[in-house]
Amino acid sequence: MHGNDVILENLSMRFGDFVAVQPTNLKINAGEFFSILGPSGCGKTTILRMISGFLSPSQGRVVIGDKDMSGIRANARPTALIFQNLALFPLMSVRDNIAFGLEARGISKKIRHEKAQELLSLVALDGQGDKLPTELSGGQRQRVAIARALAVEPSVLLLDEPLSALDLKLRQHMRAELKELQRKTGVTFIYITHDQGEALTMSDRVAVMNHGVVEQVATSDEIYAHPVTPFVASFVGEQNVFKGKVIGKEGDFAVLETSQGKLFGQNTHGLNEGEDAILFIRPERVTLEEKDGQQNGLSAKLERRDLEGPFVNLHMRAGDQPIAVHVTNVEKTHQLLGSDQNLWFAAQDAVVMRPGELAS
Ligand code: ATP
Repeated sequence: MHGNDVILENLSMRFGDFVAVQPTNLKINAGEFFSILGPSGCGKTTILRMISGFLSPSQGRVVIGDKDMSGIRANARPTALIFQNLALFPLMSVRDNIAFGLEARGISKKIRHEKAQELLSLVALDGQGDKLPTELSGGQRQRVAIARALAVEPSVLLLDEPLSALDLKLRQHMRAELKELQRKTGVTFIYITHDQGEALTMSDRVAVMNHGVVEQVATSDEIYAHPVTPFVASFVGEQNVFKGKVIGKEGDFAVLETSQGKLFGQNTHGLNEGEDAILFIRPERVTLEEKDGQQNGLSAKLERRDLEGPFVNLHMRAGDQPIAVHVTNVEKTHQLLGSDQNLWFAAQDAVVMRPGELAS
């Protein structure tokens, strides 16, 4: 098996007056695990359907490898699609389910059998070939669906929220399996999800979409550390959001006047004095340390603490401003409930952007 590049050129989709996907240019590399992440209705599935050939774009084209896919039917494309609802054939054995696509292509029984055996082994289901799908666990059924999709040797596997029907533990386990399978096969995986955890853990790169627009394409680390729009900043991971106005600039930093006084953050977007702005700071970057006389000191009351396992989420408030703080020093925060605390964050951990839509 091998992977192919997938290139979207000026690709857009309109349903009547409604633009589901704005003109999009994107290159997904051969053998890449690429995720499209965004809230419900942002256009993820529509992009996938245009790549697979089940939907003709209103404009633009899809190129796979070096072939223009315009006018090429879904079943003649080098793609395979996996959905959330697996739709395995309930009365067929696991082996026959996997070999189904091969039979339709007129491949002999012997070869079909061999191929199914190979795939059973690839997805760690050796010895399960004679069972019916109902005799398998949810995770095993999902692996059968993947094996069935891989049987026709696609160079691009399109996965539309394939794990969302599984429970949390299994989902986390399957993430690692999918990633490993992608690595072993070298097939290009295009994975659609509204779950940032899935996208961030598995992907080589992630595209974050909102309202039919791809707002950022980057590695998971880059998306988390350097989001380029307010939507991406607030959709991926948690953020504290301070609204204000730029009242000055100091080197790479912008100084904002906010309800909490002056706050400093990186001015990577080049805001000017007088502009309205938002400052984002991650909860794990705010500390409970006292930093007297330093920039970005805050005072807030600890109203609630939620134990999240490895860290505690402290819900704090300073007037109207909620402030979330994540600390790993789990026990020590008990006695602080109800009291005012000094907080601090470093200016280089905060980013200042122009106002824009925030994820809800
Ligand atoms: P979800 O995660 O809920 O599946 P999505 O990001 O995959 O969402 P799409 O299914 O791509 O979203 O839909 C994008 C938008 O286009 C939605 O507002 C949807 O209602 C609309 N849409 C999708 N298909 C059609 C259609 N055939 N006719 C009209 N509108 C459509």
